[in-house]
Amino acid sequence: MATVLAVRDLVVNYGAVQALKGISIELGEHDIVAVLGANGAGKTTLLKSISRILAIKSGSIQFRERDLQTTPAFQLAGMGIAHVPEGRHVFSTLTVDENLDLGAYGVRNLPAGRELVKTKDWIFDLFPILRERRKQLAGTLSGGEQQMLAIGRGLISKPHVLLLDEPSLGLAPIIVQEIFRVIRQIHEEEGVSILLVEQNARKALSVARYGYILELGKVAIEGDACDLKNNERVRAAYLGGAKIVC
Ligand code: ATP
Repeated sequence: MATVLAVRDLVVNYGAVQALKGISIELGEHDIVAVLGANGAGKTTLLKSISRILAIKSGSIQFRERDLQTTPAFQLAGMGIAHVPEGRHVFSTLTVDENLDLGAYGVRNLPAGRELVKTKDWIFDLFPILRERRKQLAGTLSGGEQQMLAIGRGLISKPHVLLLDEPSLGLAPIIVQEIFRVIRQIHEEEGVSILLVEQNARKALSVARYGYILELGKVAIEGDACDLKNNERVRAAYLGGAKIVC
């Protein structure tokens, strides 16, 4: 499998605090890779570094053959990388439609006109409830609907790589099922590669090919999703001790 995103020996500091202490991860073409770990392990810092929101201290981040550390953040969507941040951050005083339009705003090579309508239709097919709510203010949506909108806003640029930060956080189990159904669908039908940060290790490992477990800013364990599910330490610390069939 060709590598689409390669992070090598990444070190990121917040002032005197070293949040990432030399992390290396890879995401392939048409791949799903899970990044798991407890609160404060460095998962969000990793995604923010990839999408150029945070400056890195050392190491490298490559998208295909290109170094991302010298690429301005605003160019990433046009290159095919979309980041859906933890906490959704939808524009609450704008409608669903307007939030989706903003995902396409100012980005080169983005769908416009008929192409944009088609892309929105695809997003509304993925999340039919958003079609029903398209004229509604985003601030009046439920948490689950806001998460769907945040993912839809990321997808409007038709990305090759989707960085998803804790998409299941705080959502009811039935909504989590819906979100993970869509993660599978965009990967299988559109071939989008997904770097999935999650605390819900069980769900994440059910869709991922490979996984990394971060602890205190380092990769503590990595392996095929199936091996991780059967790893004693992973089962005890992240899967509630349950045995899961691959
Ligand atoms: P969570 O699941 O709680 O979001 P995480 O694995 O995403 O956790 P990060 O948010 O990346 O973890 O945090 C990694 C480390 O960096 C933690 O020790 C955290 O306290 C620290 N940190 C994060 N943001 C800042 C900040 N703005 N200033 C200082 N330290 C920070």
